[in-house]
Amino acid sequence: MADVKSYSSRPVLTVNLTSLAANYKYLAAMAAPAKIGASVKADAYGLGAVVVGRALYGAGCRIFFVAHAGEGKILRQAIGAKASIYVLSGNTPQDTAIFFGSKLKPVINSLTQARDWVKACKPVKHAPRTALHFDTGINRLGIPPEEAEIFASEKPLLEALDIDLVMSHLACSGEAGHPLNTKQLARFKKVAGQMPMVPLSLANTGGVYLGSKYHFKLVRPGIGLYGGKVTDNPDAEKVKPVVELHAPVLQIKTVKAGETLGYNATFTAENDMKVAIVSAGYADGLPVNLSGSDKRIVTSARLGKSRVSVVGRVSMDYTILDITDYDGFVELGAKAVFFGEDLEKQSAHASMLNYEVMTHLGARCRKIYVNE
Ligand SMILES: *Cc1c(COP(=O)(O)O)cnc(C)c1O
Repeated sequence: MADVKSYSSRPVLTVNLTSLAANYKYLAAMAAPAKIGASVKADAYGLGAVVVGRALYGAGCRIFFVAHAGEGKILRQAIGAKASIYVLSGNTPQDTAIFFGSKLKPVINSLTQARDWVKACKPVKHAPRTALHFDTGINRLGIPPEEAEIFASEKPLLEALDIDLVMSHLACSGEAGHPLNTKQLARFKKVAGQMPMVPLSLANTGGVYLGSKYHFKLVRPGIGLYGGKVTDNPDAEKVKPVVELHAPVLQIKTVKAGETLGYNATFTAENDMKVAIVSAGYADGLPVNLSGSDKRIVTSARLGKSRVSVVGRVSMDYTILDITDYDGFVELGAKAVFFGEDLEKQSAHASMLNYEVMTHLGARCRKIYVNE
């Protein structure tokens, strides 16, 4: 009896740690002499904050940003005591003990957070230092201009906060020509000038590409580390793809002309077809908008050296690929590959941000970390 090739039905997310480290070094070189901190919020954009955090630490990263204290606690356990971990959402009453226990630095986004933090620190011997985050025009989280004046005038409060970073966040950093960039830059310089002399930080990934005026002492990219491209000139972004979704082929069948494929019969076979049913669906983060219908065939996965199209609706666990014209034999267990260098193209097809696609990929897939 011939050997049966071993494979599992479970889709795999491959995360290439060598490319991750290369992207870290590439962005670090671009930002130098500014330092680089890594944004690893949302479980490192879905890729796994523990392994990704350790890999970045290994590449030399000593400053990290997460969104929530709970994320910070997990990261602290993974990377040890030496690195700085800032929590972007700032201190919230329920999480204060986690900040102290895991030595997390709150990013202070309001006067309320500032006063709450100072009060909470009173009985504590070695409270973590903090960052101040000024809103310079994104009008999302951050200290608004009217509160900035109060901060500037309340010296005892500033002193008690023990600030070691002043930051702001750009709304349009991917659009080099957007007027809000220069506006935010000017506002940031102005407000930072009223604060104690501490390192400044403005740039996310897009801000790194905006040039040295935007780098200050620290840049804090996220998506670029994970191979995501953010600007209107993506060819100039020399980051390497980090993430691929591998969907194993579970079944191959022929479909007669006139038959329909998948839920709601959105695709009709014009001629006899050969299709492969692969094991990955929207529960694995494959966007439903990558579905192929009679009106629209939008995407292609990579199968071996070829590109194949999605036909019919992407369902929860399975996706149908058209292999009618596939040149070669498709083995059960063979992997159809989504994303990788196609992340931006496939995200655009799905009318989604690459950020959004990436953060959805890690939910169910088995993650395999690759070093090569
Ligand atoms: C998410 C985030 C970053 C990183 O942004 P990218 O666009 O992924 O580089 C940096 N700073 C703040 C405040 C953020 O919320």
